[in-house]
Amino acid sequence: MRNNLPPYAVSDTNSRGRRIHEDPPTGRSQFQRDRDRVIHSTAFRRLEYKTQVFVNHEGDLFRTRLTHSLEVAQIGRSIARNLQLNEELVEAISLAHDLGHTPFGHAGQDALDNCMKAHGGFEHNLQSLRVVDVLEERYARFDGLNLCFETREGILKRATKSKAQALGELGERFLHGRSASLEAQLANLADEIAYNNHDVDDGVRSGLITQAQLEEIEIFARHLHQVKQHYPDIAGRRLVHETVRGMINTLATDLTTQSKVHIEAANPNSPDNVREMPTLVGFSDTIRQQQQELKRFLHKNLYKHYQVMRMSNKAHHIVEKLFSAFAAEPALLPPKYQHKFRDHGHQIIADYIAGMTDRYAIKEYRRMFAIIED
Ligand code: MG
Repeated sequence: MRNNLPPYAVSDTNSRGRRIHEDPPTGRSQFQRDRDRVIHSTAFRRLEYKTQVFVNHEGDLFRTRLTHSLEVAQIGRSIARNLQLNEELVEAISLAHDLGHTPFGHAGQDALDNCMKAHGGFEHNLQSLRVVDVLEERYARFDGLNLCFETREGILKRATKSKAQALGELGERFLHGRSASLEAQLANLADEIAYNNHDVDDGVRSGLITQAQLEEIEIFARHLHQVKQHYPDIAGRRLVHETVRGMINTLATDLTTQSKVHIEAANPNSPDNVREMPTLVGFSDTIRQQQQELKRFLHKNLYKHYQVMRMSNKAHHIVEKLFSAFAAEPALLPPKYQHKFRDHGHQIIADYIAGMTDRYAIKEYRRMFAIIED
């Protein structure tokens, strides 16, 4: 723990604290405690068996939400150190940011959102907050993890005005157009750096996209060229890996340099002062445009690839079938969820499905609908 952070960084001293008062931890900071609570949570362990793009059992080498979250934390911490921000807070937010994700990546999220349309919708980001605020059952004195305001603020990246109204202090920034802490801003962009780059890596490894296709994309082509200049004989996996490595480095360096300029110019004197300013952590225009180009490429060629679409289609089917069966007959839910359903309605079905890992959802589907087990 470093005590000499600049005034714009979040610290134990300027933190708005926890919802339920607890004595300060000994031997670690408040945000180390938050990070540790996230790591020990059930939802965190389940991230190992949830996918980003690829279905978990399709291959052992692809990223899961767990390895993704670790990469976000790694990128976020490196940049936080260079910007003199609170590293532990960035780490806690990064490790917690995907806790509310459904099984089967974005396809699962979209399907569950569809099912929940008449009941307020489903948003994985809000669900991550629900996991740390309500759903984890580990502590004697409270539900959830009782995390600090700043960690919860960072987890909640977005909220509609109607949802924000129900979130009290945490929802205020969406109602009044304010920013989040610099640490939250950073964790958000570290997420973007991580997923764009690992999707390139996983996409090429899976054979769904090719190096030749990627060479049409400026940021990839430039780094590929640099690697080849340094290592004329390099080929295959090593070439792609070195190129991705170069891209991550460029993005992290650009983000650090640009953000430093913005922070120095704005010179905020506290995290609350930061919250009243426009976003200060960001890329240069050139790099942002190049990132956008890569994102568009991935969207068109990877996320919409027919093989990925087939997996998404199955995911939709599984989530929709499970949801409608439980909604039509809540007695099919495990007893613990039945009790809660009586008081809280369809959100409980969403909690149950969102908490499933990919393979648990597939198993549950079989248990519900297979007449003969194979
Ligand atoms: Mg993420």
